Amino acid sequence: MSYLDHLECSACGKSFDPALVQTFCQNCQAPLLARYDLGRVRTEVDRERIVRRPKGMWRWREVLPVLAQENIISLGEGDTPLLHLASLGNDLGLRNLYVKDESINPTGTFKARGLAAAVSKAKELGVTKVIIPTAGNAGGAMAAYAARGGMQAYIFMPIDTPYANQYESQIAGATVELVDGLISDAAKLAREKAQAEGWFDVSTFKEPYRTEGKKIMGYELAEQFGWVLPDVIVYPTGGGTGLVGMWKAFNEMETLGWLESNQRPRMVAVQAAGCAPIIKAFEEDASGSEFWNGATTVASGLRVPKSFADKIILDDLRESLGTAIAVSDAQLLAAQKILASREGIFAAPEGAATLAGLMQLKDKGWVQPDETVVLFNTGTGLKYIPLS
Ligand SMILES: *Cc1c(COP(=O)(O)O)cnc(C)c1O
Ligand SMILES: [Zn+2]
Repeated sequence: MSYLDHLECSACGKSFDPALVQTFCQNCQAPLLARYDLGRVRTEVDRERIVRRPKGMWRWREVLPVLAQENIISLGEGDTPLLHLASLGNDLGLRNLYVKDESINPTGTFKARGLAAAVSKAKELGVTKVIIPTAGNAGGAMAAYAARGGMQAYIFMPIDTPYANQYESQIAGATVELVDGLISDAAKLAREKAQAEGWFDVSTFKEPYRTEGKKIMGYELAEQFGWVLPDVIVYPTGGGTGLVGMWKAFNEMETLGWLESNQRPRMVAVQAAGCAPIIKAFEEDASGSEFWNGATTVASGLRVPKSFADKIILDDLRESLGTAIAVSDAQLLAAQKILASREGIFAAPEGAATLAGLMQLKDKGWVQPDETVVLFNTGTGLKYIPLS
């Protein structure tokens, strides 16, 4: 089953025991990353065996952290379609333009992948009460997986989070507290409650396993493209779990010998102009980001004033020879209409932001006509429809 070996601090490299409930490295205030015995996976696991298994994220179980099958809490996450965008690609002069459409995941967003992994592993380690501060979709996903795993869920979300997120969390039995503030304020309240009452905090990168679920997007992309990675991946970046996870997946697959070519994608982080701490840090050549004051954007999943993994995100962008780009709300909403009307994809505003970013990069000549480009639509637009 799993070849999980140890956890490693992303900053100091210190090793942590995965048989215990772990959070992050207190010395470095940095995330822990899961490390597997890839040498053994390489000799014992054939990628074609994984290809033949029933669909879903858990067919990659050797490189996921859950040890015992019975601890997997699944709602059918993963194996999302890779859609070729012929019409839109023709408009933009890009023959090989694709969307990885994460909107068909349980709870309507790719947050399902991360929370499936984190809640399952927490359950395996004996956790019964999980708590999360959320921009919305992570809370909804956590509520769903906690419900299915028979666990209690407590959620702090900003008061202006889309109503769908509040509703989906409550109907799954979670306790929801609306916070008059940003996700950073919600995070503070969640941390206090977790410490005072022994809830396990599933905040982005404050436990090691959400990014493990998200990394499987990288494995799926490799498989869907015949074990050759695309030239460019455009990712709407909030906390950065998917970007960091996919880059980790590419490293793992290279070690496993599963890739036909060592050519790596250039990773592009897209953020909203009203909350663009990673873009600013990237442009200033800084190693970390600064807290973004007064964050505002309709793309609620991108309203993250400071990611706990900012240094890793910036490292990965640079190592990939990628870039970072900010788009205005007007641009991302215009892109949302284009995706829906040209291709029938009703994307979440965060997903649509990737198209707005790509349009700017195409104009600048940063992307060439024959390059293979993948946009990430991270959620369904249906969750963002105003109430009236
Ligand atoms: C959370 C979220 C994002 C940002 O994802 P990260 O991996 O945290 O950067 C993007 N889109 C949607 C729809 C989200 O819910
Ligand atoms: Zn450390």
